[in-house]
Amino acid sequence: MPKLSNDNLFARDLAHIWHPCTQMKDHEDFPIIPIKSAKGVYLYDFDDNAYIDCISSWWVNLFGHCNPTINAAITSQLNELEHILLAGFSHKPIIDLSQRLCALLPSTLSKCFYADNGSSAIEVALKMSFHYHRNISSAKPPRSKFLALSNAYHGETIGALSVGDLGLYKQIYEPILLSCLSTPVPNVFAKAKGASIHAPAELEDESYYEQELCALESILARYGEEICAFIIEPIIQCAGTMHIYPKAFIKKACELCRNFGVLIIFDEIAVGFGRSGSMFALEQCGVVPDFLCLSKGISGGYLPLSVVVTSDEIYQAFYAPYESNKAFLHSHSYTGNALACAAANAVLDIFATQNIIEKNRALSLAIFAKWQELEELAIVKNLRHCGMVFAFDLDSSRVRAGLAVFKQALQRGLLLRPLGNTIYFMPPYIITIEQAHFVVQMLKEILHDPNKLA
Ligand SMILES: *Cc1c(COP(=O)(O)O)cnc(C)c1O
Repeated sequence: MPKLSNDNLFARDLAHIWHPCTQMKDHEDFPIIPIKSAKGVYLYDFDDNAYIDCISSWWVNLFGHCNPTINAAITSQLNELEHILLAGFSHKPIIDLSQRLCALLPSTLSKCFYADNGSSAIEVALKMSFHYHRNISSAKPPRSKFLALSNAYHGETIGALSVGDLGLYKQIYEPILLSCLSTPVPNVFAKAKGASIHAPAELEDESYYEQELCALESILARYGEEICAFIIEPIIQCAGTMHIYPKAFIKKACELCRNFGVLIIFDEIAVGFGRSGSMFALEQCGVVPDFLCLSKGISGGYLPLSVVVTSDEIYQAFYAPYESNKAFLHSHSYTGNALACAAANAVLDIFATQNIIEKNRALSLAIFAKWQELEELAIVKNLRHCGMVFAFDLDSSRVRAGLAVFKQALQRGLLLRPLGNTIYFMPPYIITIEQAHFVVQMLKEILHDPNKLA
């Protein structure tokens, strides 16, 4: 047996693995990195290189890799019960988790429907909103359209893709998608020309979003009675290149929708669990949605789990004799997996016992103070932050400048995977200020000479 190395594992990987969200041909030039182990914010490969996980392994990891509290919770659960079907059966971790989630949310959000990934949670919310209208009304034809924001991202399955708006992922599949209307999201950074805007509080001027409210009003006037639900990512459209937009717009847009009986779906899959600065983004928006979709951070980045939290009013519309055909007959094999729920309970323990939201407030400001130094670089524009998300755009016409940054960052010990030409930092909450300073320092080295982004 040859010694395990990055190279020999990469060769074996390529023989049989088709990687997600990847043009595999790109890897003719640069290798896929096999990770051997991870601890805290660091990942270690088979050649003993270390990388700081600057993007929380695609936004899922909250409290570091190999976290002792979460490891212990999963290990202990593993010795009791690994998994059980959730139809006709239940288990303690999911009962605890549901009770705890509902206690953290506005009181009307009181019923949890589980799935096992973000896109599936979106499918659940879309199907439920359609089915709700059908159960409560005899209108023919039933409402069958959805309404979403421009620049939205809600996942990759067919329903979730239909309500998204990122051409890169969606365009090819257009002929096989559901019917979805799109209403414009305010683009404050484009409107604020020259004005320095860094954080959500600076975005709230009505002039930034009144046009978009008008656009929404005319869509509702025309189609309001045909729309099942309005789906949005509150505060930050993450995959839509970390686009931060006004909370006042969200509140007003939801009010307009409600006037037409349109249900509200909040997709907090990326921004939930403290990422936006509060435990849930809805707290900052002053909106209680009909459906709240959570996943990603829910298990601390350990195991696949998602949940749609909804109201008793929605639940009651499905509660009827079996023959009435009103039940929500949706399931996944791994719905509400016990190990994942045990991890999620450990995550809530950490939030509660370590005062994380409060601590993140100070950490966020300290990191941003350093992040702002990057603004001195000619190539950096639209520098911004919200909670534990920090971003800027590369002022570059090069098509894949972001990819060049990714490659150079790896050589400097950072896993920093841009979204197009948007560079973002979305670390686990356990990152230290020194580690964050190191990340900014490395970015300065990478970006100070734009000609080297080749
Ligand atoms: C990641 C994400 C999804 C999809 O979740 P998956 O688990 O990747 O299917 C949906 N909505 C938002 C806002 C996301 O960030």
